[in-house]
Amino acid sequence: MGNKILALVAALLPKNYNLELELDPSKPNFKGSLTADLRVNKKSNANGISQFELHSRNLVITSASITTEAREYPLTVSCDETAQLAVFQFSKGNSLPSLEESETIQLNVKYVGSVQQVSSNRDQTVGIFKSSFNDGKNHIFATHCQPSFARSIFPCIDEPSFKCSIQLSIKTLTGFKVLSNVSQQSIETTTKNGYKLVKFNKTPLMTTSVFGFVAGHLDVLKSQVPEQEVGYPMVPIAVYSPIQINDATFTLDTILKYLPKLQSFFQNKFPLDKLDFVLLPFLNDMAMENFGLITIQMNHLLLSPTNLSNNMIRLQCEQLIVHELVHQWMGNFVSFDSWSHLWFNESFATWLACHLVSDNDTHDNDSHSYWNSDAYLLQQLEPQLISDSTITRKSIMDDISQLDLNKQDLITNDIFNHIAYTKGITMLRSLQLCIGDQLLSKAMSDLFNDNLALFHEKSVKPMDIWNHVGKFLKSENIPNFMSSWTRIPGFPLLSVSKEDAESTNLVQHRFLVDSKLDQVEDVPYHIPLFIKLPNGELDKENILMTDRTMNLKYPITLCNHNAQGYYRVSYESGLCYADFIKQIEEDKLSQLDLMKIIVDLSHIIGNPNYEKPIHLLGFFKLFKYLSEKVTKKPDLWEPISQCLSILEAIQLSVRVYGKGSKSPLGLDIITILWNAINLDTKSTYELQALGSLLTLTKTEPRSVEVAESYYSTLRSDSSDNKKVPSELVSSIFQVIVANLQNVKQWKKFHELIKATDRILKNIEGSYYPEGEQGKRLFIEDIYDNLGRNNDEELVKKTLNFIDGTIENEPAIQIMQGLANSIVGEPAKIELVWDWFVSHFHQWLRRSQKIPKISIIVESISFSVFQLVQVSHSDDLRSFIESEKDQVKDKLDLEGIWVDVQSAAISRLKLYEDSNSL
Ligand SMILES: [Zn+2]
Repeated sequence: MGNKILALVAALLPKNYNLELELDPSKPNFKGSLTADLRVNKKSNANGISQFELHSRNLVITSASITTEAREYPLTVSCDETAQLAVFQFSKGNSLPSLEESETIQLNVKYVGSVQQVSSNRDQTVGIFKSSFNDGKNHIFATHCQPSFARSIFPCIDEPSFKCSIQLSIKTLTGFKVLSNVSQQSIETTTKNGYKLVKFNKTPLMTTSVFGFVAGHLDVLKSQVPEQEVGYPMVPIAVYSPIQINDATFTLDTILKYLPKLQSFFQNKFPLDKLDFVLLPFLNDMAMENFGLITIQMNHLLLSPTNLSNNMIRLQCEQLIVHELVHQWMGNFVSFDSWSHLWFNESFATWLACHLVSDNDTHDNDSHSYWNSDAYLLQQLEPQLISDSTITRKSIMDDISQLDLNKQDLITNDIFNHIAYTKGITMLRSLQLCIGDQLLSKAMSDLFNDNLALFHEKSVKPMDIWNHVGKFLKSENIPNFMSSWTRIPGFPLLSVSKEDAESTNLVQHRFLVDSKLDQVEDVPYHIPLFIKLPNGELDKENILMTDRTMNLKYPITLCNHNAQGYYRVSYESGLCYADFIKQIEEDKLSQLDLMKIIVDLSHIIGNPNYEKPIHLLGFFKLFKYLSEKVTKKPDLWEPISQCLSILEAIQLSVRVYGKGSKSPLGLDIITILWNAINLDTKSTYELQALGSLLTLTKTEPRSVEVAESYYSTLRSDSSDNKKVPSELVSSIFQVIVANLQNVKQWKKFHELIKATDRILKNIEGSYYPEGEQGKRLFIEDIYDNLGRNNDEELVKKTLNFIDGTIENEPAIQIMQGLANSIVGEPAKIELVWDWFVSHFHQWLRRSQKIPKISIIVESISFSVFQLVQVSHSDDLRSFIESEKDQVKDKLDLEGIWVDVQSAAISRLKLYEDSNSL
């Protein structure tokens, strides 16, 4: 793409493009004719112009000239293919005399470009592309310009910082529907037999990346958003699809419902004179928000009545449609001056779409909104917090400064940063909740006002917006808040402690999982507190914390109410947990608040930087209370299933260090839960809890009985059995393998792999999707459990098996399973260590022929070191000492040892803290 910003250095700049394209489906190329009004570029200081440049990619320019009022100048054109530029040169001694700033001259270019033929999802849909359907009888031409493919449609300044108007005409078949960013001005049908010339109105100022047109065989649904009382004019709306147009009714209805809501939010009219949605057979980026002409891959929005009866699908489609609508104001009318701001553009569209769709949710119950769903907390926010917890994570600013915007043939995916995007959504949501809808709308409305054109005439930076909003609301906190979250990496842990019932202390530090705090610059964040008070109301007194510590002279229940901020909270006083229980008892704690408390605990427990005995104490207190209540409140199965996975981690650590001396923690709770659980349940969370109960008590008769009954159903040939819930399958395997008695039974279990297809027919639920992916997951579950046996003969058998299949990846899973299941059992650990030492060299010799063996041996070494590091610490150290240099070109034994030790620190801390209970 070349390294320079052309709009800064080009001698001449376009004011308007007049573009005529000829599209003939029988030809692989298209013809183009461009007449551009040019002005002199004040920034380039050219005195007498001998040449100028425009972006151009795969265009063959056949003629070019400049016309001024006085005369015509022929131009010669050369192409710089690497920089994707067309260089226009005046002939020698014939350069253009210097121009007045106000003077306009005309560039005339004739050229030929190519049309990409698209027939599957693998074909790139960029520039102008054509898909054919109905046995090749019907065709659709469409475009995709983001980030820089407009230059393969016409010579232009193809950069996000540059805006210009465009007037397009298209000559094509009379049978085609022809659409572009704005409405049609005229249609001439007399040009040539079977052809018509469609001329569109002139667009407002826009970047080339949201330019677009569609021409082809399409069906249509039409309607209009009526004129609004506040003076917004009527907006014609149309949805186009090559097939099944009646399945697009939901799309049309959604646009009609939300476009007026967006006009009210932005307090400005829709910025164009019409809006089209076009459903296309293929589109790589799934959806593209071209100004006034949104394109979407059709399978996402053609919805049958069955699809429409599914609330989740409806919600996702609404969010997608409203997201694209938001871009028409933010991203298109107001645009950003660099591709590095793409994350913000996308965050804004998603945040506002989710906000409006949630706000408008027809369910009375708040818990149905997107922000309160698992789809948000567990599938979007949590994975992002997890990946943002490591020391190598950069701030949004540092991350985007490393994007390679000069990469050849950049595609949208190259410039989209997912972590920045998700963080951005939460930042915007926090800000909106702190400011309030009405004030935020009012503060932003100037940006979209056509008459002011403050933010429309040129592209801006996200901070320009927040500076404006801050000025309007007379609050420096707003730009500071946005700047802090984009410049500081990671996120904080906010610790809450109560010395007495009357006051609360808050302290913040960066949250890290893999390093100590003294290894980073631990800068305080701008934390939106979202404090919930004991009376159930939100605190209005303190809403933002910018210092390290804060003391409140009143009691609080919790911070980060309903996971509205991007951080975790650590509750460090017994009073906190007592209060949670009281709030649950009185039905005042939302399910989301409870889930967030437990999810945060699951990341604090086992983290040596932050874990304290109080976390374990609080955890067990809360867990027990929930277990006692669950028969009356079945919703509690969801937090309980989270608690059970924390308990599994605690028990594992105790087994590593406790040498079986003490009975496992949480036994009383497990008994309560076994009595409460309904074995025939269909609820996902109750099933997840049942799965954990089975594995936590895998050798007890009750677990064996349940697992064996399901195990025989799984293997059954008959199809009229009741089916096995997919949530339970892995736990059933774990119980079965833990109780195997002999090698014959073990072989039979292994042979389940051969019967995968038949067994999957006996399973219900969504954990194993249909097709190859589901089969793969199922086979992985078998390997995960194949080593989890307890019998000494079987341990030997398993070790032999691993040795025999050392060149295959499942060896890693089987070893990990075996190591986990014999933790704390000295005789079996001894077997593993002897086996490892005696086979180690032989494996490495084989890795000379089969290099991937050394990767497998690396993982196996990690599992074995972790298993033996307490019981055989001296043996292990002398082994590493004597071997590390000999094997260093194949294996980094020292590195593995460091990893094992750092994992040991957290297990040991967890053991010590739980021992202190
Ligand atoms: Zn978008």
